[in-house]
Amino acid sequence: MIEMQDVIKKYSNGIVAANGLNIRINQGEFIYVVGPSGAGKSTFIKMMYREEKPTSGKIIVNGIDLTKLKNRQVPYLRRNIGVVFQDFRLLPTLTVFENVAFALEVIEQRPKDIRKRVMDVLSMVGLKHKVRMLPTELSGGEQQRVSIARSIVNNPKLVIADEPTGNLDPDTSWEIMSLLKEINMKGTTIIMATHNKEIVNTIKHRVVAIESGRIVRDEQRGEYGYES
Ligand code: ADP
Repeated sequence: MIEMQDVIKKYSNGIVAANGLNIRINQGEFIYVVGPSGAGKSTFIKMMYREEKPTSGKIIVNGIDLTKLKNRQVPYLRRNIGVVFQDFRLLPTLTVFENVAFALEVIEQRPKDIRKRVMDVLSMVGLKHKVRMLPTELSGGEQQRVSIARSIVNNPKLVIADEPTGNLDPDTSWEIMSLLKEINMKGTTIIMATHNKEIVNTIKHRVVAIESGRIVRDEQRGEYGYES
């Protein structure tokens, strides 16, 4: 579902954050992206949802060649990709319900169906009882669960998470992991950049390690491999 061929990304300041990336990712995989800070993990995943464009090389996601994609076509790509961030990025003036509903692509859907879909994902993440609250009234873990609900509301084939447990305590981090696992079990591909050694070494998945813009390790059921 994702293929990168000889991908290079040189930022305008001259930094080469991707230096010849080649990878294939199949539908339904769960992948950890690990590596030191500044190694190029975020750049690698941002290129998958066209937050950044490669300088050269080829990237195919869900059958779409991103190097040929026009800017106006990006929303079509994003419809099939959910994104979760370390800092949640919820809209502060909207309620939990509204934050999720806002992300739902409403293509000829009846209000009743929209409401049902939003409530279904919010109950999946265990927040049905907090739909009228504002993000500031929630704990960090609850905010991350809202952001996960938002990421899956359109039934994407791919969820990309950039350090989703980075701001959370260990117990809450494990809860977030079990949610991501549940989403993955339904067939959604998950790509997660993380510094969480304990999680990577306990819940085993494919590990892709990046250093200086290169993939230096790619192992099924791999280890974190760095000191945390
Ligand atoms: P990681 O996620 O592994 O910490 P990043 O992909 O964020 O790494 O960054 C890789 C390198 O690219 C770093 O040296 C960083 O400073 C640089 N970089 C990241 N984003 C930009 C940008 N928008 N402009 C210029 N340099 C950037």
